[in-house]
Amino acid sequence: MSTPFGTVAGRHVISTLQAAGFETVFVGGAVRDFLLGKDPSDMDIATSATPQQVKNVFRRTVDIGIAHGTIVVLAPEPVEVTTFRTSADSQQANDKRPVSLVEDLQHRDFTINALAMRLDGELVDCFNGQADLHECLIRTVGDPVDRFSEDPLRIMRAVRFASVLNFDIAYDTLAVMKQLVHQLQHVAIERIKVEIDKLFQGINPLKAFHYSRSIGLHTVLPELFSSFEHLDKYMPFVHAQHGWAAMLTESECTAAELANRFKLSNEEKRFLKQCEDALRIRNSRSFDTLDIYYFSSDVLQVVEKIRHAQVKDEPVMTKEQIIQWKERLPIQNRSELSFTGTDLLQWSGLRGGKWTSEWIEKIEQAVVCKRIENDAQSIKEWFLYEISREK
Ligand code: ATP
Ligand code: MG
Repeated sequence: MSTPFGTVAGRHVISTLQAAGFETVFVGGAVRDFLLGKDPSDMDIATSATPQQVKNVFRRTVDIGIAHGTIVVLAPEPVEVTTFRTSADSQQANDKRPVSLVEDLQHRDFTINALAMRLDGELVDCFNGQADLHECLIRTVGDPVDRFSEDPLRIMRAVRFASVLNFDIAYDTLAVMKQLVHQLQHVAIERIKVEIDKLFQGINPLKAFHYSRSIGLHTVLPELFSSFEHLDKYMPFVHAQHGWAAMLTESECTAAELANRFKLSNEEKRFLKQCEDALRIRNSRSFDTLDIYYFSSDVLQVVEKIRHAQVKDEPVMTKEQIIQWKERLPIQNRSELSFTGTDLLQWSGLRGGKWTSEWIEKIEQAVVCKRIENDAQSIKEWFLYEISREK
């Protein structure tokens, strides 16, 4: 019986490796999500073939991740194929001893992530993953002390899955998370950040924050998990960045502190900084036309939500109102202005200098606030009149 599971490319890779004599299966999150009736995100495939054997079977491959036993097969879409391994550690991946599928599954983090599916749809479930899926439970494969000691990031992953899947954490698993939470301080912050991003985008971040509090995660990451009083009011976070922005007020950290601590990307840093600036303005007054022009609608929406959460009974703008206001502005950005810096030089007969950019900004604001029309003639008249008054 054939199964609808997997992409065409993924199924092609598995059948080709099987035909070459290698046991090959779908594995990990994709199988879990399929059983939950969700669209799987990335498709992981595990095989008994070594990376070299995978390369021998397919004509087009990329060596990304080969140190961890992963080969990308271009089929023609890229498909990640990882040799059965007993650890994420590269040393182990290079170990010559062949590893079985069961051993591979045994070293995955949670029972719901240790499910494999063969091409014919047969489920390989050695650790009662399917039962835990039905019970909506996150439980380590085997002894939680061993599993969390091997890789303390799994503590963060358990919390993240509580949000993403809206699952509970099994009692014994949770008890050990609490016992070993301090070990997270040895984990690279970049790995932790990936999990936090996913946590924010999950369906129940609040649940994850409650678990975080109960295991003492705030002792390791006080910038994030100390307070979450209003968290439910900011949700859902349409993007992980919105979650980080909410933390500006919840954690009382500055944008720079959060960005440095969690090594946020430049784009994320910029977004957070803008939220911080907009929030400062919004805490002293309502947004005006220039704020609506300068801040992105994303930033404005997030800040209105935060304000709404903090100050009850105060009217705030909806997403639609923000978008409408923005659309009604005469221009959306500077490039739409009907003049250039060169025009200013020509009109005034002056030499270029710092004054040019200052006047471009003044004119831009006058256009945005509808004090002048956005046409070259009106701008010229207004500019020459205003600049003569300054002399
Ligand atoms: P997502 O839906 O976010 O991709 P996922 O479960 O697929 O979730 P990945 O990070 O893509 O998570 O990892 C794929 C699989 O690899 C997991 O399902 C799990 O079996 C295993 N895995 C990933 N990280 C770890 C880890 N730190 N420890 C043990 N197993 C892990
Ligand atoms: Mg995945």
